[in-house]
Amino acid sequence: MLRILSVLVLAMILQTAEAQFSKRLYDTYDSYAFPGVSSRRFTHAELMTHLAALQQKLGPLMTMEQAGVSAENRPIQLLTLGRGPVKVLLWSQMHGDEPTATMALLDILHYIAQQKESPEVRTILAQTTLLIVPMLNPDGAQRFQRRTSQGIDMNRDALRLQTPEARILKGVRDRFQPEIGFNLHDQDPRYTVGDQGTVAVISLLAPAYNVEKSDNDVRTRAKQVASALTLVLEQFVKGHIAKYDDTFEPRAFGDNIQKWGTSVVLVESGGWKDDPEKMYIRKLNCVGLLSVFHAIATRSYVQTGTMPYERIPMNTRTLYDIIIRNATVVFPDGRAPVVADIAVNREEVRDGGNSTWRGRVVDFGDLSVFYGHEEWNGAGKTIEAASVELNDIIDLPLLRETIR
Ligand SMILES: [Zn+2]
Repeated sequence: MLRILSVLVLAMILQTAEAQFSKRLYDTYDSYAFPGVSSRRFTHAELMTHLAALQQKLGPLMTMEQAGVSAENRPIQLLTLGRGPVKVLLWSQMHGDEPTATMALLDILHYIAQQKESPEVRTILAQTTLLIVPMLNPDGAQRFQRRTSQGIDMNRDALRLQTPEARILKGVRDRFQPEIGFNLHDQDPRYTVGDQGTVAVISLLAPAYNVEKSDNDVRTRAKQVASALTLVLEQFVKGHIAKYDDTFEPRAFGDNIQKWGTSVVLVESGGWKDDPEKMYIRKLNCVGLLSVFHAIATRSYVQTGTMPYERIPMNTRTLYDIIIRNATVVFPDGRAPVVADIAVNREEVRDGGNSTWRGRVVDFGDLSVFYGHEEWNGAGKTIEAASVELNDIIDLPLLRETIR
């Protein structure tokens, strides 16, 4: 009894210490955020410049090697920090247009450089070896597209290994056989949490390694690490963490790396109101990952168990950018008017280096089971049917004027 009690007390003390570290990382983020990146769109060449600058600051704390080259001969870097027994592999931007975590990795390197004498960083570097592939798909990043330059979705190439980029990831995994891995992605920013209607800012998954979605030691450890990450994030964005679909995907890397013996956590950066560049989500990635590195270094994540992860609600799709509620939509001919909700999503349009946002009507009718980041009250207002046709680009400012 006494022994159980002392284990519980120890777990509480460890969790309190971890929570304090996370809070400090969150509150002081602006003092260590990597200043060189302020937009989601950056190229491999720019990343290389940033890594060189960070190498200067980190000195012998970081080694940088070329793990291989992409189909278009861009070097794919592997960064190594720390000399501890627990190897942790992180790979980001396997999909070229999913750079949120890549920016967070730069913040993490900058933090380690600034705080190298702090007890937390010393613990992380003494107990873990961090292996980081910051941009696995540089050709896709150049085009800001999901797929590689050979047209392959790398996350469906874990078995055939047709792309050089996929072979590099498999090669690094096999060479180091890390205990823990983080598979870093972005998802549609309109995913929601369960039936709550709140936006999913980050979704997590301990991928299945078989169709039955069984648990073994490897997947259980992934769930413990995901639980530690959940607890960190819930300090700041409670109610905005969702669980990604855990159907086994035989061709995906997360699922296979879990099967090959590395405990994998998938981290999907989602959406946040008024954060199209995802800078707040970048901060959450940075704080979450740094905190969890420490939890891995102290092994406090084992005490966390799997429940904090198991109990988070599933990713759902019940969110639009704007919903206009109960507007009266009128037709120019004899058709009777209808009272309808109108859902509009914002889309980014690129023109050279500039981007603008426009609205598109994506749903129409009774949308009472959906939510809007913004909800406009259209009750008693009249809208011409031609100005809100399904799938059309619309004049948002004009519509706003009509509703006002
Ligand atoms: Zn992805």
